[in-house]
Amino acid sequence: MPTDFEAEGVDRTRLGRLLARERSTFVDRHPRSAAAYADAGHLFGKVPMTWMNKNAAGFPVYLDRARGARVTDVDGNEYVDFCLGDTGAMAGHSPAPVVEAVTRRLADLGGAATMLPTEEAASVGAELTRRFGLPAWSFTLTATDANRWAIRLLRAVTGRPRILVNSYCYHGSVDESLIVVGPDGRPRSRAGNVGAPCDVTTTSRVAEFNDLDGLARELAHGDVAAVLMEPALTNIGIVLPESGYLDGVRALTRQHGTYLVNDETHTFSAGPGGATAAWDLTPDVVTIGKAIGGGIPVGAYGLSAELAADLTARTDLDLVDMGGVGGTLAGNPVSVAATLATLREVLTDEAFAGMAETAARFAEGVGALFAEYALPWSVSRLGARVEYRFVDPAPRTGTESARCADADLEDYLHVYLLNRGILMTPFHNMALMCPQTTVEDVRRHHEVFGDALGELVG
Ligand code: PMP
Repeated sequence: MPTDFEAEGVDRTRLGRLLARERSTFVDRHPRSAAAYADAGHLFGKVPMTWMNKNAAGFPVYLDRARGARVTDVDGNEYVDFCLGDTGAMAGHSPAPVVEAVTRRLADLGGAATMLPTEEAASVGAELTRRFGLPAWSFTLTATDANRWAIRLLRAVTGRPRILVNSYCYHGSVDESLIVVGPDGRPRSRAGNVGAPCDVTTTSRVAEFNDLDGLARELAHGDVAAVLMEPALTNIGIVLPESGYLDGVRALTRQHGTYLVNDETHTFSAGPGGATAAWDLTPDVVTIGKAIGGGIPVGAYGLSAELAADLTARTDLDLVDMGGVGGTLAGNPVSVAATLATLREVLTDEAFAGMAETAARFAEGVGALFAEYALPWSVSRLGARVEYRFVDPAPRTGTESARCADADLEDYLHVYLLNRGILMTPFHNMALMCPQTTVEDVRRHHEVFGDALGELVG
């Protein structure tokens, strides 16, 4: 949401001047990207997806190639990639085991769209069970669809109409999730919601993250099929759960007969079994996507044994044909092969340990720079994922975090880093580590980030 928040410690005139200078440098260094953007008149918004117009300098950096933690653009500029496709490439770009598995399936064996299962799918299910604890898995192509289909199943099994989410959550383009707590404390549609099929307050309820009283109040209506949440918010900065909050959520959902869905698409950064395993959580459903495919589109949802049995017993539900849960290419052999390779050979338990260590260094260094420049800003970490916000202490709800976005400051830092070979996530001040991210990469970031802060507030 657009805010009029201005980070403490920043002279706006100086920020404006530096941002203009960096944007101009960006234009000079990216002539081919600029031309590609200018020539894309037959794309809606001149980009493959309109969100690609979210960039700090007026046009996107166009990809030439990417490998591991490195990206090279069409102008030949190389970047250390801390964006990693906002988690889609948490396994690193084109990891060798995934390339081999996909090549084997696509080129050697063939059969990307046969509508036939492969034996590998069961192995993926077993590995997801080992990691997340839930015993019955099904595939989608995106995390959005994993959430959509989980929602349909849980509405069906409870006979309840509503879904509850946290204010300023993001679960993909899921209609039910585009609701926030308004300034008057009442639920309302998220600003800018495009073409909502109906008033979201009739399909959804909302509570602030870390607010058990608010959650209890909303669940007391008795009409909530499921709470869909990230165990830590990650899409409005990282908002970590306070002690006892997640236990409270579980107790309240049980008390009110509401299912609990952990969306682990981003919180997977917490460890091999996401926050669910790292924090001993016991959701009824886990949804996930992005990173598990090692760069190939895939999503998945896992159900508890009881829920799977209840659904299977419901012979009135059409889970086979036109019931509204499914997709032709979901569970396709290429996605499945890529996921198995990613889980078995790339995002292993050992890899996660290394990524978390690298991320800890990243967070420490950023915190040290804030201290050096006496900036009252904060940095949070969730395993391999690090994010800073321009307030201290870190926000404890989505709404608090949404309020402290400073667009010009973010753009300045992003474009300054881009101009010096560091790629951050466009929607965030987020840095993600993949298995190939090195301590030297982190050191390089800190050097450039320190220079950016020095010019701004030094
Ligand atoms: N859930 C969460 C928590 C996400 O962060 C996202 C995407 N950022 C999604 C779901 C949707 O993922 P996709 O766009 O791949 O469907």
